[in-house]
Amino acid sequence: MNIDLEIFSPVQQINNPLFAEWGLSVYIKRDDLIHPIISGNKWRKLKYLLKKAQSQDKTHLVTFGGAYSNHLLATAGAAARFGFKATGIVRGEEVNNDTLFMCRLHGMELIFTDRESYRDKQALFTKYFAGDENAFFIDEGGASPEAAQGCSELIGELIEPYDHIFCASGTSTMAAGIINGITDHKLPTVLHSIPVFKNGGFIAGEIDKLLSAPANYQLHTDYHFGGYGKVNNDLITFIKRFVADTGILIDPIYTGKMLYAIYDLADKNYFRPGSNILAIHSGGIWGLLGMKDKFI
Ligand SMILES: *Cc1c(COP(=O)(O)O)cnc(C)c1O
Repeated sequence: MNIDLEIFSPVQQINNPLFAEWGLSVYIKRDDLIHPIISGNKWRKLKYLLKKAQSQDKTHLVTFGGAYSNHLLATAGAAARFGFKATGIVRGEEVNNDTLFMCRLHGMELIFTDRESYRDKQALFTKYFAGDENAFFIDEGGASPEAAQGCSELIGELIEPYDHIFCASGTSTMAAGIINGITDHKLPTVLHSIPVFKNGGFIAGEIDKLLSAPANYQLHTDYHFGGYGKVNNDLITFIKRFVADTGILIDPIYTGKMLYAIYDLADKNYFRPGSNILAIHSGGIWGLLGMKDKFI
């Protein structure tokens, strides 16, 4: 089977008086529309990993994530779509939630593991699948050079040039891939990464490991809202207004924080007037379901 999805990820303008005031043109690339389950950057990150598994005749994808992991869900969806078996090793005690329900619905088997053992993914893989010659290890979040390669292809889809591209960062694989794409296409674009957890400064080291050549990029480490999965009223209010104003769903864990950063930086006069800015909608809208109670 040819492992590929037709990419539908249009670029849309976001109109807002704030941007008009500063002469900014702000756009959003709708990677969330690539697939409802294998959504956003998760398809880009899985594509070359799945091709590698296929080339090694591996038929069983084994990967890792928290109970709300978009990566687990995307892997479950991709496995079902492309004929792999899938196992998800989930951090923490056994629970059920919307994400894990959807993982199971797509045929993924789940193994729950305590937080201590979860730290050593290779050990877990060996423990459960040493005897399974079909098993293929995929790290948490899909983090790998293959995943960065997949993300770099996003740049080749752009028709217009942009001064700035913004993305939310977890493992930072997507950020590194986009920077590599910018380098490959010899563009003057600056990539801005918004780490979604506290003390995100170390992400620079993670990005640098995956770069094909040294490059300039910007980290904005002050938009974590207290840490991974944490929100405050400002962020929730922003998300409600953004969704109601644009008709574009965003999640509070990744894309909400990244877009908040763009609006806040625009408000603080960070961008040169006339700048073109592209936000990457990296998907993950199911993350909203785990946070319904924050929106009351
Ligand atoms: C996983 C994810 C990210 C983070 O991507 P990294 O490559 O791990 O930095 C960003 N946005 C969404 C919606 C995600 O699901």
